[in-house]
Amino acid sequence: MFAPLEDIQIKSIYGSDLPKRMARCTPDMLNSVRLVAADVKAAGGELILSDMYRSYEMQFQAHLDYVTGKKSAYSPPPGGSMHEAGRAFDLDLSALKMSLSDFWKIAEKHGLRPIINTPSQGANEAWHFDCRGSHDRVYDYYAAGKADNFASPYTAMAASAIVSTGVKVDALGEDPTAGFIQSGLIRLGQTIGDLDGRMGPKTRTALQAVKLDPDAGNTDIAAAIEKLLQSAFPDEYFVPAVHTLALGAMPPAFSLLAPAKAPYTPGAANKAALGKIIDMLPGAVMIDQAFDLQPDFLGILQNKCLYFDSELQLDTDGWPDGRGKGDKSWQSTTSLRYADDTSLNANKVPYFVLPLPKSWANDRGIYLGDYAAVIHRGKVAYAVFGDEGPDHLIGEGSIQLLRALGEERLKQNGRIINSGAGPGIITVVFPGSGQPAHRKNEDTLLAAIQAEGNRLFSALTG
Ligand SMILES: [Zn+2]
Repeated sequence: MFAPLEDIQIKSIYGSDLPKRMARCTPDMLNSVRLVAADVKAAGGELILSDMYRSYEMQFQAHLDYVTGKKSAYSPPPGGSMHEAGRAFDLDLSALKMSLSDFWKIAEKHGLRPIINTPSQGANEAWHFDCRGSHDRVYDYYAAGKADNFASPYTAMAASAIVSTGVKVDALGEDPTAGFIQSGLIRLGQTIGDLDGRMGPKTRTALQAVKLDPDAGNTDIAAAIEKLLQSAFPDEYFVPAVHTLALGAMPPAFSLLAPAKAPYTPGAANKAALGKIIDMLPGAVMIDQAFDLQPDFLGILQNKCLYFDSELQLDTDGWPDGRGKGDKSWQSTTSLRYADDTSLNANKVPYFVLPLPKSWANDRGIYLGDYAAVIHRGKVAYAVFGDEGPDHLIGEGSIQLLRALGEERLKQNGRIINSGAGPGIITVVFPGSGQPAHRKNEDTLLAAIQAEGNRLFSALTG
């Protein structure tokens, strides 16, 4: 629901890497720090930190140390520092081996902002840099006078950033959810009055403006807001893949611990065929389940269609000639039957398979006999939900479905090439689209697969 924090490994002034409890930051900050460190290194200096993440308790202690005179550097009370959001660091200025104004240029290039106004090496807080990300919009919102309940636009921005990581901000109440929703709305361009943790009339109106139901409950609303934020600000949720980095340019002490994670995009060859469906992907509700061959994407689109991008394994069930020639688990029958209880012929009927138990599909409004569009290398074929398979597999289709996608698996001599196709094959299932009348016999079913598949898919691709 909230913005993730990633672990980072980086050199510190303490003679070793920055201690783990401090070495945490948001994905966009991680990327910025990585790039800044590489540039400083290339210029002959080194990025060495003294501080980064602070929990509520750590910030409270730092503030107490300042108030009691134990430490002279100013620390605000919890709720007002970007350190608490994993969006700030303090660095060792002497290790940079360059002027502060030169470092400002490097920092600015990679999205890091100083907290002071002029690059004066001796100034208090000259060592502190923020990665504001989209919370800069909250700063602008307060600077423009759209709200006034914080001491400064900066404090409002920090509160927005902190609450977005799921940590409470005292001014916004014990539960960070409402504050997170409001912060999200401001960053999405809405006007909500004060960011105050109260779901008042202006917040409700703003929710309606982004097509969300104000009565849905804060947990559901927050999940929906997160989806919108992920789509608007992907850098703040996903760490770029490690293999895209110029690792050689980085300081030896610096490496990434975070797993590579990038937003899903369908293969280039399939994009044109998908049309408007591509716009629906960021709003999908993902299905988090492990399979033998993990699909690149498995989720339910806003219009309730099931969408997955996977391999397509061969299923020969129901093929009358399949005994001894079909795939290893060949069966003479399929789960879906015609009116006279005979099975679908895998060599004649393009069908797809979904995993058991029955509830896997049924709970998502999908039943045997429903239709799907299957896309492979830009080619679209239509298919019927004709068989059920083991719970650890997703992405299986009949001989005729592979054939329709340009993958012939039946040799001239009548033997089968027992291999699937893919990865990168996209299946879009239309829940509740099948009708018993379509399954009078093979002819009626084949006609319905084409007509209904085409009609439903065209309506979706726009
Ligand atoms: Zn600082």
